[in-house]
Formats: sequence, structure tokens, C-alpha cells
Amino acid sequence: MVEPVIPPLITEHELGSAYREVLSLAGGELGVAQKAHMLSLFSGKTKLVHLDLEGRMHRAWLGESSYQRGLDGRVRRVRVDREHGERSLAIEVLPGTEGERVLAEARALVDAVVGALPQAADPLVVEVLRRAQTHQTAAEAERFRAAYDPIPILPPDESRALVVQLTSGCSWNRCTFCHLYRDARFALKSPPALGEHIRRVLGLLGRALPLRRGVFLGQANALVMTRDKLLPLLDVVHRELAGAPAELGSLSAFVDAFSSPKRTEEWAELRARGVEGVSLGLESGCDDVLATLGKPAESAGATRLVEQLHEAGIGVGVIVLCGAGGKRWQARHVEATVDTLARMALCQGDRVYLSPLQVEPGSRFAASLGELGALSRFEIEAQAVELRARLRQAGVTVPIARYDIRRFVY
Ligand code: SF4
Repeated sequence: MVEPVIPPLITEHELGSAYREVLSLAGGELGVAQKAHMLSLFSGKTKLVHLDLEGRMHRAWLGESSYQRGLDGRVRRVRVDREHGERSLAIEVLPGTEGERVLAEARALVDAVVGALPQAADPLVVEVLRRAQTHQTAAEAERFRAAYDPIPILPPDESRALVVQLTSGCSWNRCTFCHLYRDARFALKSPPALGEHIRRVLGLLGRALPLRRGVFLGQANALVMTRDKLLPLLDVVHRELAGAPAELGSLSAFVDAFSSPKRTEEWAELRARGVEGVSLGLESGCDDVLATLGKPAESAGATRLVEQLHEAGIGVGVIVLCGAGGKRWQARHVEATVDTLARMALCQGDRVYLSPLQVEPGSRFAASLGELGALSRFEIEAQAVELRARLRQAGVTVPIARYDIRRFVY
């Protein structure tokens, strides 16, 4: 049973502040509002479509759900759902045809607004709407593929970052639960190839670039390489983005405790080159659980790494896998993970991400669950609640956020 969500649409507050210009059309039934780097179209009380200045649908409210469109053309839907009597947010990436239906509905609003525009409309509004009308989804997806390898996931706080891919794939790629880079061969870009990549990315983003916040260095563990290879690549990033908005000034990346064996001075060197935060895939504080995941790390190594990062002035988001270890290790997973996070002395600029385990059917991890005893989806959610409460009791005060890998579009 889905409850309709009527968005607040454009409130008086927004009309007075966030939006610079509001043009009312068709007796108030339609409208166009401008704000920094975005154009918003609305119809009645139920439809609102945000376009970036390249004319791409960025976000939308259409009747009962909200939508976000990724640069790769995929569409994510968020709506209020009711399951077992509980209201919850249902978030999913839509299959192709459903995504196309949403884009077509947004396009119909664009057409209606264009039809109602006065002759003397702002040239910027006219141009963005013209781009929206001629936007080719398939051609855009092709441009995305020419610029990027797939972007399966970013940490929640980095979802608006500009992704720059120093590497492809994951240098380890053998964790039994992880399929994000399974088909990708690990490779580093050369400095010229990285420069070409960034120029294509900037061409793809176009006038939507100011919507991005920070730069995320992809793919899985871009900082894994030795400094003689990494530093020249970071120099290329800074050179190519020299004229970009100041909001893109900070760099971040995924790291892990086994493939990033850098000394504290090396982390400090990266900090001096703009690396302000990293996301660390801890998964569990229990080494037996890590062994079942095929992750060649020990929790003590992760604690040492966080110490080094703190000394270097780099913030860390620690990712915990809720449900790892199945029924057999359930209690120890929670216990040891809370202990490990408490020992990390997380502070301002740090955060914890609780990521519910997603089991890929037919994977080695799925097979191992026969022996470990799989937790149900509800047991995994209950573990996330317990972890959050226990972390607070243990004195972990940094933000704790949910990290659901199924819900990401770039
Ligand atoms: S969890 Fe991280 S280290 Fe393990 S295979 Fe996936 S990307 Fe690589």
C-alpha cells in the first residue's frame, strides 16, 4: 500500500530566498523558477521538475514519488511505503522502461511550460528548456560511457561529488560479498589518459558542474598505488580542475586497511594535495568475520590506519557491514565492531556508515551462508539498530548514517 506524498512544492520561504526569479504561467497552473545552477518547473500542486543548466532532469516530484536521474541515465525512485504496518521509505533504481516513463512525464511538463512561455522570457530559461526538449537519453548514456567506467557506488556524504577515475576496478577484488568491480580488470591511468578522462568528464557535466561538491577519486581504491605513481596523477587532477568552482577543492576516496600501507608522512603529503577525507571499508571489527568475507585485513590494522589518518588531518568514514558473519558470528561481530570503533577515537570530520549486507545469489558468500546461517532482512535491520545504540553507549558521538548500495545513481 503506497501513500501519496504531496511535496511542499515551492513554499513561500523558497519563493522568497532560494529562487531568484519565479515566472507564473497559464493562470498560475504552471511556473518556472530559477535558482543558482538550476531551473525548476512546476505544475499545479503535484509536479515539480528540476533541470540542470544542460537541460537534464536532475530531480523531480511527480504525483506520489520523488525521482533522481543519474548522469548515466538511470532513475532512482523514493516513495513512502507501508510494510507490516510500518511506514518506511522505499528507494529503488527503476528498470529501463519505468525510468523512461518518468523522463517522458518530466519532458511533458517541459513541453507544457514551453508552450506557455511569453515571447519576452529570459533567454537562459528559453535555452535550458530548448536543451531539455532536444535531450537524447541514449546519446547521453553513450557520452557517459565514453567518459567513465561504471560508478556503482559512492559513500553517502560524497553522493554529489565529481568522480575522477584514477584507476579501474579493485586491486584485490576477492572479497566474497562484493560484486561491485567483479568484471573490471584493475588498472591505473597514465597521466595523459587521466587528463583526457577529466576533460571528457568536464564536457559531460558542462554547465551542471557547479552542482557537484568535492572530487571523489575512483574506482575502488585509487590511493592504493605507490607515491611515485599517485602524486603525478593528483597533479593532473589539480591542473585539469584549476578553473573549476571552489566547491570542488577537496579530494576523497575509498581506502582499506590492507592495500593502503602508507606511512603517516605519506598521508600528510596527500592531505597537503587536497585529500581531506577517506571512506574505510572496515566491514567488521571481528577478524573471524573478516576471514569469512575473504577480506585480508585485521581490525587492529584498521585502527592503526585511522590513527595515521587523524595525525595527517584526514577525516574518515568507517563502513560497517550489518549482517556480516551471519548467525554464527552475530554477537561477536557486534561486540568487536563496537570495540574497534570505540578504540578509533573518531572525532569531528569522521562518521560511521552502517551498510546492510546485500547477498548476490550464486556468489561464494551466498554459499558460505549455508554454514554460517543467513540473517533475514529484518534481523540485519535489527542489527543495524543495535550497532547504532551500542556505539552511542560506547561514546561514539560522530554522525552515523545508513549506506545502502542498492540505491545509488551518479
Ligand atoms: S569490498 Fe572493497 S576491497 Fe573488497 S573486493 Fe569490494 S572493492 Fe575490493
